[in-house]
Amino acid sequence: AAQDANFFYGSRQDNEHTHGPTTLGTIEGGTTVIVRGRRSGGAWQTRERIMGALVHECSHILVKDYGELPATGTNAASFDRYRDEFRAYFVEPHGNFEGITDPTARATAIKDHLVGTSSTAVSSYPELHAAYWAAPLATNTFHQQVDGHTRPDGFNLANSPRLDRLVSLLREQRAGRAGVEDTIFQISVLSAAERQEAAGATLIATLLGRVAAPDADRIRRALTSPAAVGYGREMNPNDSPRVTAFLSAVAAKAPDEIVSTYRACNPQDRADLHFNEHVLSWIGATLPNELLMRTCVMCMITGRSFVYFDRVRVFAQACSAAAGASEMPEALRSALRDLSLDVRMGYYRFCEDAYRVHVEPLQEPVRRQVRAILRGDAEP
Ligand SMILES: [Zn+2]
Repeated sequence: AAQDANFFYGSRQDNEHTHGPTTLGTIEGGTTVIVRGRRSGGAWQTRERIMGALVHECSHILVKDYGELPATGTNAASFDRYRDEFRAYFVEPHGNFEGITDPTARATAIKDHLVGTSSTAVSSYPELHAAYWAAPLATNTFHQQVDGHTRPDGFNLANSPRLDRLVSLLREQRAGRAGVEDTIFQISVLSAAERQEAAGATLIATLLGRVAAPDADRIRRALTSPAAVGYGREMNPNDSPRVTAFLSAVAAKAPDEIVSTYRACNPQDRADLHFNEHVLSWIGATLPNELLMRTCVMCMITGRSFVYFDRVRVFAQACSAAAGASEMPEALRSALRDLSLDVRMGYYRFCEDAYRVHVEPLQEPVRRQVRAILRGDAEP
C-alpha cells in the first residue's frame, strides 16, 4: 500500500501537498479544501463522491467561520466536535450515507460511524469513540448528549453562498466596509426559506446586535419581507410604493400584475429601474428558470414602456414560427419593427440566453438579419 497520498491545489497538477495514505479529503489553512481523486487501491473517485466530500468539508469551514461550535477546533473529544462531524455527514448529498434518506435512520448510521456500536469497535474518530464509551455510562454526559442529538444544527445547513454572503455583509457593515443597503439587497435575493432561516437564526440575531439599532430594525423587517422596506434603496432609491408593487409582482411571477404595476410607474420610477444593475441582477435571481418572463421584464424596463412586455413575447413567438424559414417572414420583421432600438439592443445585450433559444436556431440568412437588426446595424 502507498505510504502517502499526494494532493495538489487548483486545476493544474504543478504543486504537491502530502498527507497520510488514508486521507480522503481535508481542509488546509482554514479555507482550502483538498479532495482525493484516487483511492489507495487505485480506483478513481466518482464525481458524486468528490462532490459529497466538498459539501462535507464546506460544512466544516462554515461551522468554524460562524463560531457556533467553538470547542470543535480545540477539543477532539468534545460534543461541539461531534456536532460538527455529525452535521458534515448529515448534509452530504453523496458519500457513506447515500441512500439513507429517513432522517432518524441517517442520524443513527452517522452516530454509529462516529462513536461505534461498542466499546471495543474501531472508529475513525478515536477521541469521540473513547469519550462516548467512557465508564460509567450512567454518568457520562457526553454519551447522553450524543444519544439526544438526532438532527444537524447551526446556521446555513444547505451551505448556501447567499446566506454566507449575508453573514459577511453583516460583519463588514459593523466594520464600516458595507452599508445597510448592501445587506438589504442581499436579503432580496434570498429565497423565502433562506429568509426564514436567517430571521430565526441565533447567529444572525447576534450579528444584528452589533450594528446600529435603526439598521438592525430595517434588516429585521426586510427578513420578514423585502417589500416591507420597499426592496431597499439600491433597487428603489426613492422608496416609491409603485416600484415596490412592481417588484412584488415580479417576485410573484404574475404577468398581468407585472404589466399593470409597471404601467402605474411614473417617469421617475421608470428612470430608477432603467439600467439599474441591482434590479437587473435581482431579476436574474428572482426568475432563474422563467426565461420568457425574465426576457419580457428586462426588455420592458429597458424600453421604459409597459407595451414591450407583450411585444417581446410576440417577437419570441415570431422567432419560433420562423424555424426553418430561409427568408425573413413578414411577421418576424414586423415584430422587430415594434421594438424600439433600446429594446432591441437591450435584448441583444442583457438576454443572451433568450437569444440562444430564440434567435440562434434560425436559418441563415434570417439569423444574420435578425442579429444585425437587434444590434442596431440594420433597420427592421
Ligand atoms: Zn469531517
